Amino acid sequence: MIIIFGRFLSSIVLTIYSYSALSPALYISQPVIRQGEFITVSLTLPKSFKTLDGTFFGRKIKFFKTDTSNKYHALIGADVIAAPGIHPLEVNVNYVDGKSYSSIEMIFVQEGNFRKENLKFGRKSDIEEKVKKRVYNEWVMMQSILASGKERRLWKGEFIYPINGKITSGFGNQRIFDKELQTVHTGVDFRAPIRTPVKSPNNGRVAFAGKLYYCGNTLLIDHGAGLFSQYCHLHSSKAKNGDMVKTGEIVAFSGNSGRTTGPHLHWAIHVNGARVDPMYVKKYSAVVLPRGLAKEAIKQEEPVI
Ligand SMILES: [Zn+2]
Repeated sequence: MIIIFGRFLSSIVLTIYSYSALSPALYISQPVIRQGEFITVSLTLPKSFKTLDGTFFGRKIKFFKTDTSNKYHALIGADVIAAPGIHPLEVNVNYVDGKSYSSIEMIFVQEGNFRKENLKFGRKSDIEEKVKKRVYNEWVMMQSILASGKERRLWKGEFIYPINGKITSGFGNQRIFDKELQTVHTGVDFRAPIRTPVKSPNNGRVAFAGKLYYCGNTLLIDHGAGLFSQYCHLHSSKAKNGDMVKTGEIVAFSGNSGRTTGPHLHWAIHVNGARVDPMYVKKYSAVVLPRGLAKEAIKQEEPVI
């Protein structure tokens, strides 16, 4: 194992890799990422590999293909509260001959510079023990669902808005009361009268339709390869657990369930376990893969024999 620092120092990437022609050469769409954004990692493998996996922030990432070539991609997200600084992205490949190789790239996470909202009233922090337990159990269940989604990509083309509504609170907004940070907004809020039809932003499979303490009536759509949409505070869901849904299909009706201050639709997106900005996904899904990236990747990737 040879450790080389500064291979791409000018672009703030530090590389550690096994000194072998069989080490996967990674192409990273950009070495710097803000909280709430995602980037793409791509690599080409020989046909004879056995397994491919990776981790970022200790969470598994899913690789997907977009064509019949042996090129693989994964979306790497920085959570809304990811610690700014340098974080390792590790990719491991096992070959049929039993040998395995790893590549580690250092990704620089920057602060998201989110908006601050001053609240007129503070949040009660002394929730009952049984509610805490319920919230914790729900969190564990959701993490398990998010980790066990479809490996292959189900989304296709650009993401669309779930409703035509004014955005009343943006992603990452820091809600402050009496100079103290109360909550960080993990999605985008749209103004929506109760029972407004809500569309699926892309193709996917319903991974959860049920009630959660904070989120209220919730619909979670698995778009594959680690990408999920979550709708909160719904009046009701039309789509059921396990349903395959298409872009633009009415899957739910907005409401005011769970912990809310009024009727609205909350749309959140998870990328391999990181909570990212739906507007960023919307913008770059024309995007996912970002347009032009595939071509760039071909130019810059080192061949793997
Ligand atoms: Zn919200």
